[in-house]
Amino acid sequence: MDTGSHGLAGALLDRSLADRPSGRAALWIGFLAAMLPDLDFVFLGDRLDYMQNHRGWSHSFVYLPALALGVALVAKLFFRRARFRDLWIFAAAGIVSHILFDWMTSFGTMFLTPLSRTRFSLDWVFIVDPFFTGISLVTLVVAAVRPAAGRKAAAVGSALLFLYILFCGAVHARALETWKRIDHVPAGRTSAVMPQLLSPFRWLGLSDHGGELHACFFDIGPFARAVPEPRVPEKLGEALRLLPRFYPPAERARIKTFVQAPDSPLLAKARALPDVRVYLAFARFPLETVTAEADGTTAVTFEDLRFLPFFIGPWARNRQGQYTREPFVYRVRLDASGRVLERGFVLAGRSR
Ligand SMILES: [Zn+2]
Repeated sequence: MDTGSHGLAGALLDRSLADRPSGRAALWIGFLAAMLPDLDFVFLGDRLDYMQNHRGWSHSFVYLPALALGVALVAKLFFRRARFRDLWIFAAAGIVSHILFDWMTSFGTMFLTPLSRTRFSLDWVFIVDPFFTGISLVTLVVAAVRPAAGRKAAAVGSALLFLYILFCGAVHARALETWKRIDHVPAGRTSAVMPQLLSPFRWLGLSDHGGELHACFFDIGPFARAVPEPRVPEKLGEALRLLPRFYPPAERARIKTFVQAPDSPLLAKARALPDVRVYLAFARFPLETVTAEADGTTAVTFEDLRFLPFFIGPWARNRQGQYTREPFVYRVRLDASGRVLERGFVLAGRSR
């Protein structure tokens, strides 16, 4: 989840654990401790480092007790009369909430670092979710306005938050079942559905059929408002308004097929590069494309379809003047002998 929403949810959960007089300490420690894990970016260098190590040690249950201890020690300076044990519990609960709420998203959380670098993701909730944030915010406001009933309000808010998450989990299960049915995913093949912006009913279905990847945007809710040929948004502001048009009901959804490049020495060379290995370890549905350029060089592109935008193209203008977006696309350019000429993330159609 986004860091601010983590803070609100952590404050809410912690406030439900404590009545006055420690309610204030619970609220503040929950708020700050639940945002703390995302500060790991301070220790991360470039985008590749972020891809490799974000949501690592700071999001790990193994380091959690020590991290909570650090928070409790600092908190003791501000809340001198509070019991130290309570401060540690508030801090630990805030950090636990962060790990669990990141696990629900599809980015991947390495919560067993350093025992394992496995990335866990439930794919239930999109990283930015107004319902999740709204439930936390509204109940915190109620708790602030009526401090005498603060703990009760926070408990009700926490229960609503968990019900919402369970609801998203149930919709996810249905979406996955729907996707496997409409895409005829063979048994044993990897498939997943990714939550999408602004609605728990909108999904991106992905599957690996060996030599090709399938992707499809669809809506399993009662409000699907797709049109056959949706217009590609030209401005960022337009994107949110046009977004629902790209998600038809599953029966009418168009499945896109992306063909994987066949194995070749240049592709193998690119795959073996340390930066590309980092990329491939992070990616779940990597599409590999090999393109022969006019100047005799070869471009090998890696694109995790998990981040496929609902319309094709990034927030930079393409040649037609439309806004396009290519998140997490990595490209290596090699000459005929396999020497690497250029490598990096693609931004606005060019390597960086
Ligand atoms: Zn996080």
